[in-house]
Amino acid sequence: MIQILKTKDRKRFLYTIEFYPEEGKYHWDGHRACKARLSPEEASRTNNKCPVCGKNITVGVLHRLAALADRPEGFVLESSPAFKKVVPLAEIIASALGVGPDSATVEKEYQQMIKNLGSEFNVLLEFPEKELDKRCPAKIARGIINMRKGNVSIVPGYDGEYGKVSVFKEGEEKPEKQLSFF
Ligand SMILES: [Zn+2]
Repeated sequence: MIQILKTKDRKRFLYTIEFYPEEGKYHWDGHRACKARLSPEEASRTNNKCPVCGKNITVGVLHRLAALADRPEGFVLESSPAFKKVVPLAEIIASALGVGPDSATVEKEYQQMIKNLGSEFNVLLEFPEKELDKRCPAKIARGIINMRKGNVSIVPGYDGEYGKVSVFKEGEEKPEKQLSFF
């Protein structure tokens, strides 16, 4: 394992698994009190001032990264292993069922799925698409498939406010009453 990590042998080091950094509380720039959420480019245009109240905004991680970076955004080093971005299963279940991610309903469904389909990463990345539908509620399966395809909508976090990565489109995010599936 250590050797694979050191040599980055692409035949054995298949990919890394990452969460969306946009979910972090300080990804973009902005001023939370004014609900002003700014991309680094927008923030630069306003001289890092809040467009609503004129005070200094809180500069986020992406902006600092862009200032430090010596490569354009999205640049991928040829020798670096691939990566897959995932949304935590509990979050997918929560938005499929229209409940909070910490609710007992989500916990129950999560445990049920792990028991039936394997580990969380197996469910998120490996479990065959065609089988998913039959083995868990259809809405959750759709969320997982959307995530695999990168079909997500992202609202980046800023100034202490968490970002949101949604695996359902606007209007698709209605809860599905189908809990007793197993
Ligand atoms: Zn403001």
